[in-house]
Amino acid sequence: MTLTLPFDNSYARLPDRFFVRQDPVPVAAPGLIAVNDRLAAELGLDASLLATPEGIAAFAGNATPAGAAPLAQAYAGHQFGGWVPQLGDGRAILLGEIVAPGGRRFDLQLKGSGQTPFSRRGDGRAWIGPVIREYIVSEAMAALGVPTTRALAAVTTGETVWRETALPGAVLARVAASHIRVGTFQYFAAREDTEALRLLTDHVIDRHYPGAEGPLALIEAVTAAQARLIAKWMSFGFIHGVMNTDNMAISGETIDYGPCAFMDAYHPGKVFSSIDQFGRYAYGNQPQIAVWNLAQFASCLLPLMGELEPAIEAATTAINRFGVIYQREWLRLFRAKIGLSTEEDGDAKLIEALLTLMAENEADFTRTFRGLVDGTAAAEFADPFAFEVWAEGWQARLAREADPEAVMRSANPAFIPRNHRVEEAIRAAVAGDFAPFHRLNAILAEPYGDQPEAIAYRDAPKPDEIVRRTFCGT
Ligand code: AMP
Ligand code: MG
Repeated sequence: MTLTLPFDNSYARLPDRFFVRQDPVPVAAPGLIAVNDRLAAELGLDASLLATPEGIAAFAGNATPAGAAPLAQAYAGHQFGGWVPQLGDGRAILLGEIVAPGGRRFDLQLKGSGQTPFSRRGDGRAWIGPVIREYIVSEAMAALGVPTTRALAAVTTGETVWRETALPGAVLARVAASHIRVGTFQYFAAREDTEALRLLTDHVIDRHYPGAEGPLALIEAVTAAQARLIAKWMSFGFIHGVMNTDNMAISGETIDYGPCAFMDAYHPGKVFSSIDQFGRYAYGNQPQIAVWNLAQFASCLLPLMGELEPAIEAATTAINRFGVIYQREWLRLFRAKIGLSTEEDGDAKLIEALLTLMAENEADFTRTFRGLVDGTAAAEFADPFAFEVWAEGWQARLAREADPEAVMRSANPAFIPRNHRVEEAIRAAVAGDFAPFHRLNAILAEPYGDQPEAIAYRDAPKPDEIVRRTFCGT
């Protein structure tokens, strides 16, 4: 028996040059790591069916579910600013799209599913580390309320993957509004394929921005979505780590959890990615990089926008809205983080003063903000007195707020996927023990709760636990 899912594959109906039809490559011995019951329910899927041998075989790529139209998507991209005319799904297969109850359409993609014509020298596989990392972090992001791709399931392959050393292989079943990237547009723009650009634009508008009338409105909509997304990342201390144009989704979801990390000690220049030598994708650079990526996106659409000069001007104006929307969102989110639901002129200064002190005092980002609710923030500062001085002004401001504690509680998580906990889960998984992975997922599903029994998971890493570098998903 093969699994049957409610597929309706609109991307597969686009012309052949958008993708290569390709089945996943079967693996030796599929084994279940996890099925995401909650997400399955949201998608209208029966989780108990997904965890059967048929479901596991489908997620491992050993049996194509009925109704799927497996393919590898073509895309290009700027990687660390350098142009690569052809990337594409080299280790992923889009099985198809599922239409959930209520009509929302989702991609179901397998990541780590074997070689495709886009694999170049890669093996098309993933080891268990990046699969576990993406599962944990993407689900944590969803629980925090950040738009993101999701993890529907993870399986082991029973095969060995070679990454400097022998590691157990795994496949992630990922769900996304779509996997269309800035790099998808770049792929066709570089080939001067205006017809494909038009089809892709219509497809994306239909699917993600039905209110947008034409390419300029699409640029405006994507700019707004990205501004809101990056502001959210910033408000949780999230560093994406590899904001290449092929890793920016047009839908406005966070995509590609390679070398990502949540900051422990706050510093705007923080970088984790082992491949980001020059700090291009440092925490504080993320808004600028988003604008840079959006400019690449907009330039792809120029051929659809009539006369060049006015088109460039209109596109530039549209992208420049990023700063306005981002600032507004950032301020709204950080106001809430310090308990403010009303707006006063000095608020931005108050927030920035706190962040400056946090950087100077190596204060833990998440613990400091949550500590504002719990009254423990001062302890996060090398010089607690510096915080106390700031807090005097803050308290005076809070006196004009109705219920700052409730506001802070729902803006400042107690639990984030701290790097050392993610690494701990990965280490155990490599040794065949998935208990730490499941425990961590369960805790991160309720990030704003107190969960006293999980208090140790709020802790910053001890000096010997600090993870200084994270590695790309390859
Ligand atoms: P990423 O860094 O994950 O955004 O991937 C960049 C490009 O490298 C994409 O085209 C991927 O499909 C490809 N790639 C990454 N890892 C592998 C792999 N193990 N095998 C084949 N292609 C890969
Ligand atoms: Mg990628």
